[in-house]
Amino acid sequence: MELKDKLIETLKSKIARKTWDMWFSTFKVESVTDDLVVFCVGNLFIKEWISQRYAKQFLETIREVSGKDISYQIKDEAVSIESEPKQNLPLVRKRPVLLSDFNKEYTFESFVVGPFNEEGYDGAIEVAKNPGKMNPFFLYGGVGLGKTHLLNAIANYVLENSPDFHVMYMTAEKFMNDLIVAIKNGTTIEFRKSIREKLDIFMIDDIQILEGKDGIQSELFHTLNHFIDNQRQIVLCSDRTPTQLSKFQPRLVSRLQMGLMVKVDNPDLQTKFEIAKTFATRNAIPLDDESIREIVEASDNIRTIKGIINKIAFRHAKGAVDKSNISQIVKEISGVDIKRFQGKKVIEKEIFFNALAMIFDVSPAEIDAKLRTAKLSNARQIGMFFARKYLGKTFAEIGEWFGRDHSSVVYACKKVEESVRIGNGIIKKEIIQLQEILKIRNEESAI
Ligand code: ADP
Ligand code: MG
Repeated sequence: MELKDKLIETLKSKIARKTWDMWFSTFKVESVTDDLVVFCVGNLFIKEWISQRYAKQFLETIREVSGKDISYQIKDEAVSIESEPKQNLPLVRKRPVLLSDFNKEYTFESFVVGPFNEEGYDGAIEVAKNPGKMNPFFLYGGVGLGKTHLLNAIANYVLENSPDFHVMYMTAEKFMNDLIVAIKNGTTIEFRKSIREKLDIFMIDDIQILEGKDGIQSELFHTLNHFIDNQRQIVLCSDRTPTQLSKFQPRLVSRLQMGLMVKVDNPDLQTKFEIAKTFATRNAIPLDDESIREIVEASDNIRTIKGIINKIAFRHAKGAVDKSNISQIVKEISGVDIKRFQGKKVIEKEIFFNALAMIFDVSPAEIDAKLRTAKLSNARQIGMFFARKYLGKTFAEIGEWFGRDHSSVVYACKKVEESVRIGNGIIKKEIIQLQEILKIRNEESAI
């Protein structure tokens, strides 16, 4: 037997079969000289993983086979693939197993990390590196803050580094629809098998849409248990915490809480500024600080910032972009709301404060004054949120109306939005009443 084969055989005898199959499928001996043995593996991640854990076995193997203490080195294939054609290589690197479409752009590298999202980022990396250890991994937070991006990043990382793994991503809506079809067709067993028996990592996005869907929740509960029991990774996303998922089965809520639960937050203004700058640099578009500030002020989340910058980049590629069309683009994209109100009558402050006063049973002058009672603060906060969301006002304009600085307005809007999101019925009713009084048609099904 050749020396190289002997090395492999001996090493293999020292390592558990399962580990060998999982981590050593790309392992080979590249060269052996009197003072150095060079091993090679598929990629950097595998290299790190096995170097940390099997140093002792490597040394022992070399000593046993060569009778000498020779040092060794592990290379990853990214480096060696061009340098030497594969010779003695019985093991062929498998191709990634692609079970669903992933967004190739959504990677860990393209994700901007800051204090507001680093827990989510760290958790996702951990899951990608050690699937099955933290189960379930539950990621939550508002719209456009990078949850779906992180899920895809996990998938992309795993496909790159552990190509034999079976990874599947689906929205909760697809999970529900597929299950319903399976029930109709009498193929529930096949549906279950396709998920439970095949996958190393299963990711379900936006599970809040399963609120009140009892049957689907039961299926999800058993799916969760299956993955947890078998130490396979399950990852879930929602726009709220498990306890805020009303009309969710208590057993499911408690299962969702038992793994790693992480929130992705909304970045503060300064961080949004940095993110916008990063996006601009990546797209190679020259934007001055003033334009970036304009973009950030108009954006409630990262998705909006990205949308605006992408659009500017698109226009930029076709010709010059000046300040006035930047403002236009900012309005077009962030101003989903602003646009919606174009062509409708402009609501004056006086009319708006009168409407608020009616609903909250106070006087318009009291809302305008500085006095702080719980009732007045509540009326003002809901007023600020409403003006932002339904009147298309900018934070600056709202600040002027209510005599508040920028950050108080942002805080109020965020707070009310959160309450609406998690289903605060009283606030929803107040908002509907305001819409009625101001004759604003409700175009959002959320409220
Ligand atoms: P969510 O699923 O939380 O609603 P997404 O993951 O869809 O949000 O993110 C919305 C958009 O913003 C995507 O295009 C995503 O790439 C981008 N995005 C969000 N957070 C970040 C981030 N931290 N770094 C880079 N891009 C981000
Ligand atoms: Mg999403």
